[in-house]
Amino acid sequence: MSKKFDPVAALADSRHEFGEHGGVNLSIEASTTFTVMAADEMPKIFRGERGPFSMQARNATGGCYLYGRNFNPTVYTFGRMLAAMEGTEAGYATASGLGAISAVLMQFCNSGDQIVASKTIYGGTFALLKEFFPLKTGVTTTFVDLGKPEEVEAALQATKAKVLYIESIANPTLEVADIPALAEIAHRHGAALIVDNTFAPMILSPVRLGADVVIHSVTKYISGASDVIAGAVCGSEAFVYSLMDLHVGALMLLGPTMDPKIAHELTLRLPHLGLRMREHSARALAFAQRLADRGAKVCYPGLGSHPHHELLTRQMNDGFGFGGLFTLDLGSVERANRLMEILQNQHSFGFMAVSLGYFETLMSCSGSSTSSELTEAEQKAAGISPGLIRISIGLTGSLEQRWTQMLDALNQVDRQLGSQ
Ligand SMILES: *Cc1c(COP(=O)(O)O)cnc(C)c1O
Repeated sequence: MSKKFDPVAALADSRHEFGEHGGVNLSIEASTTFTVMAADEMPKIFRGERGPFSMQARNATGGCYLYGRNFNPTVYTFGRMLAAMEGTEAGYATASGLGAISAVLMQFCNSGDQIVASKTIYGGTFALLKEFFPLKTGVTTTFVDLGKPEEVEAALQATKAKVLYIESIANPTLEVADIPALAEIAHRHGAALIVDNTFAPMILSPVRLGADVVIHSVTKYISGASDVIAGAVCGSEAFVYSLMDLHVGALMLLGPTMDPKIAHELTLRLPHLGLRMREHSARALAFAQRLADRGAKVCYPGLGSHPHHELLTRQMNDGFGFGGLFTLDLGSVERANRLMEILQNQHSFGFMAVSLGYFETLMSCSGSSTSSELTEAEQKAAGISPGLIRISIGLTGSLEQRWTQMLDALNQVDRQLGSQ
């Protein structure tokens, strides 16, 4: 038995270099262009013989930087920290989560290639795969139910797909993927397994479990402050380097790279991501248990009643809980909307807003917001009912204060609209 991976220990061991004047924080390399000391170095950089990720650079004296849309030292350091956390060889950051997703998929797929993807994925990713890619690139996607391995296998076999694309914990139904099993199936059919791990940083380490590439919407938990749009890719050094290839690199040529000032800010947040995840998870578990005890229709993978509770327990790292998201089905849009309005406008419980991973609580009705790209039938197939509220639980206030607010709001909804 291999020892369990500890992302906090791995992150601590990957300590970044000192700031320019011995500062404890990293300096920001704000330059968009970089000098060479000898003129004949420049062609070597363009031939890929020098550069921070190139295999040749390992034997050369120091890496070389070229231009800010290619590798930037500050963004590279943030990428290295993310790679340490995910237990991968390399990582790099992007301007958004979708920037990372589209670049990675375009890097894997040429026109006419196929993708197999989970049917329960983030609405924007679903639109990208279902509408945009077929229209603009000729890359088509077959959507499958990850709970049916034989369906996944049949789709991979029939399409000879290059990629199996999944989310570690799926938005918004909180289904958990069996990453080792899916990696085995994908690899047997010559496909790469790409995992969007946005919902479960620290909790799950998909590459350690067999995946090839991990993607994050850094906008969510990794940022933690709902103030920055950002993304990341972690995987092998060869793959990350290929994204920056001057001739065929999707990050280099489509251009959704991260600004070094943003990367610097995020390097200051990564060290307390583990603490934040632990607290988000503890709060979510307490809420889910208390709501379930009250007879509410609550879905949280930390509950023994969740169909994937065992599956998540088997795969997760120790100490970070089951995540900060749960859903509450109020039975109708009216009841769901009333509950959220009371929680936001009468109490300080949280905000009616999409997104997740903020230090305050965010609540949204998935069917009419983040999953509205799906048709009614597609929503039904994905298990999204109209009164389903997704709650990304915050860290502020005390648990008892927040629970009292929730109880009051639930009682008001029952009084005003009748109980469920
Ligand atoms: C938000 C989100 C994305 C998209 O990320 P952006 O940073 O908004 O581009 C992708 N996947 C999941 C699971 C998300 O929650």
